[in-house]
Amino acid sequence: MAQDQINSQYFTGKTAIVTGAGSGIGRATAKKLAQQGANVALFDLLDERTTEVETEINRIRQGAARAFDVDIADAERVEKAVLETVELFGGVDIVFANAGINGVVSPIEELKLEDWQQTLSVNLNGTFLTLKYTIPHLKKNGGSVIITSSVNGNRTFSSFGMSAYSTSKAGQVAFAKMAALELAKFKIRVNVICPGAISTNIDQSTKKTDELKEIVIPVEFPEGRQPLEDGPGEPEQVANLVSFLASKESSHITGSQIYIDGAESLL
Ligand code: NAD
Repeated sequence: MAQDQINSQYFTGKTAIVTGAGSGIGRATAKKLAQQGANVALFDLLDERTTEVETEINRIRQGAARAFDVDIADAERVEKAVLETVELFGGVDIVFANAGINGVVSPIEELKLEDWQQTLSVNLNGTFLTLKYTIPHLKKNGGSVIITSSVNGNRTFSSFGMSAYSTSKAGQVAFAKMAALELAKFKIRVNVICPGAISTNIDQSTKKTDELKEIVIPVEFPEGRQPLEDGPGEPEQVANLVSFLASKESSHITGSQIYIDGAESLL
């Protein structure tokens, strides 16, 4: 209880936008930031999962969460939802650009242009649009942006068939570092996190093609896959990192790329 009281002062009066808030890492983070006192705008393709998160948070603190039906690849819908968030909660202080898909997993020569574009559009355009429309509001009092990239495309390149995904995840890191420099004078910090395997619903957005087996090279690890915990991480562990990066505790950290993978990607 004492811990809750301390936590609830952390982000009191602050507003966070969390994309992909209906599931996995986004869901755990939205709940964490709300427990720590933030009002939370839940951006996701509206389904029961997102409204469930909204209900769960509002049960703890009435009015602290609002679900918005947003496709982050759609500029108009992102802009509209950001404006509605500002109207409802009075501003934006924390942005967690997290929504993403694995998309079609296929050899490059079989990958359709529209499938390549779909992955890039959600993961990379979506990140750009989330920042583009929140920056004017973050500029008012400064703030913190956290982008979810991945070990894929940064430290590991062995997820065969995920060329579009890995390219989008590498692009997010470059974009985060550009944004960190550009926005430093407005006291807006931008950091990028690179999770390894985390237990979420991401497999639901993975479409493996039959041709995939033709390009896979077996990758054998000594024993198990994650050296630290011998299993995937939990979304709540990622939420703890995002909370730290959103808070004043990390006030001198910007432009940083932080791996959260139990050393998996060092193998
Ligand atoms: P998840 O599938 O559980 O959650 C992703 C959420 O994003 C879903 O609620 C989904 O509806 C939403 N989403 C997808 N497309 C969207 C769109 N166009 N507009 C709005 N919302 C959209 O997956 P997760 O693992 O929590 O993924 C979150 C982020 O973490 C992604 O960027 C993913 O690439 C990254 N990541 C995940 C892992 C992992 O192992 N789970 C590892 C590294 C990086």
